[in-house]
Amino acid sequence: MKKIEDNCFNEFDPNAVTVDDAIKKILIKIKTKSSTEEVDIKKAYGRVLARTVKSKINVPNYKNSAMDGYAMNIKCFSTERNNFQCIGESFAGNPFKKNVGVNKAVKVMTGALVPSGCNAVVMKELVRVKDGVIETKSKIIKNQNIRFPGEDIKKNQIVLKKGKLINEIDIGILASLGISKIPVYEKPIVGFISTGDELVSIKKPIKTSQVYDSNRYLLYGLLKKYPITIKDYGVVKDKLIPIRKKFQQSASECDVLITTGGVSVGDADFVKDVLNELGKINFWKIAVKPGRPLAFGKIKDSIFFGLPGNPVSVVVTFNIFVHAAICKLVGKKHENSLSLEAELISDIKKRKGRKEYKRGILISKNKKLFVKKSGSQGSNILSSVKDANCYIELDEHMSEMRKGQRVKVLPFELASEYYE
Ligand code: AMP
Ligand code: MG
Repeated sequence: MKKIEDNCFNEFDPNAVTVDDAIKKILIKIKTKSSTEEVDIKKAYGRVLARTVKSKINVPNYKNSAMDGYAMNIKCFSTERNNFQCIGESFAGNPFKKNVGVNKAVKVMTGALVPSGCNAVVMKELVRVKDGVIETKSKIIKNQNIRFPGEDIKKNQIVLKKGKLINEIDIGILASLGISKIPVYEKPIVGFISTGDELVSIKKPIKTSQVYDSNRYLLYGLLKKYPITIKDYGVVKDKLIPIRKKFQQSASECDVLITTGGVSVGDADFVKDVLNELGKINFWKIAVKPGRPLAFGKIKDSIFFGLPGNPVSVVVTFNIFVHAAICKLVGKKHENSLSLEAELISDIKKRKGRKEYKRGILISKNKKLFVKKSGSQGSNILSSVKDANCYIELDEHMSEMRKGQRVKVLPFELASEYYE
């Protein structure tokens, strides 16, 4: 088979797509998985909602007390001193059902029904009780300490929109509406393969010129938080026939297939060639550092990401490109992550013509944000990611950045989250 001839040395490669264009090209090719299923509410955590949810009830469902105290029917709110005759008690789940007349009161617990006729609740600590008469000197405001029906959620209100990644708060809200079965998108299958003759399993002793296959574990961790089924297809050697066989088999089983390594221009890099032979290459060079080259395409119905082999490149390209793809695939709208601006603590080297994602340490001092590089920025130095808490995103047009300049920062916690 003819190898795809190209080079990767020219930093200003006109054939390299920009990061923004690459994301657009990726998203065009991804279709949200249309099949849905109903799951038990506890299993809905971390899944994507497949149907907009409207409330069938008011929350709260009835007028209730926000305090332990006394609910009263008060006629004149301007008097300083008030006396009420206590005629009963109302507990949460055990209400006082009769009407309460003027100048009458009922002892109420938090969450208990505020009986009809009552127009205020005074907290227990502010009243004196003597011979069934309640006296308070505190000023009473109409409807104070009363929670009204629908105050939180109104009947027929849209509560959660289709495409929302369900979190613990959403689960609490769904439960407060009495919904036990949740419609969610089915989990797509995402598989991964490591390529490389030098790779050795983590269970084996390592020899000179061997490398532990860490990328599969890295990818497993990166994929873990998405509502997908993960398939680990192991390692394949840098040989054309085994790569072809492995790609054919795994692509037929996956919605997305991710490989690491073997995607560059070396004599042992066959990933693009096999992708070209079995399917289609959409693009394979992006003006980004780290992360070039990256082969994106399709084998039959399976979306294909050929990520570079260096671990830092794997993390960065995953966070930027694969993340966007998976969000769309699982039905979650991908929107730009929140970004911050911070002042550089030290100079940063950069070449024009490509976007760079430096690993950084973001700190806050005297209410201002500062950022610095987290050690060596080589794409093989995974420790620079371990010690970092953000990316410093430097646009294509930027060159060297000086201490004191302001830069865009993507905090990891936020960068890797889903946003509405
Ligand atoms: P490649 O993209 O195949 O040229 O690999 C680039 C670098 O990443 C080389 O130093 C590889 O040894 C390293 N590498 C590739 N795959 C892995 C892997 N699965 N785990 C750890 N390092 C890897
Ligand atoms: Mg390799």
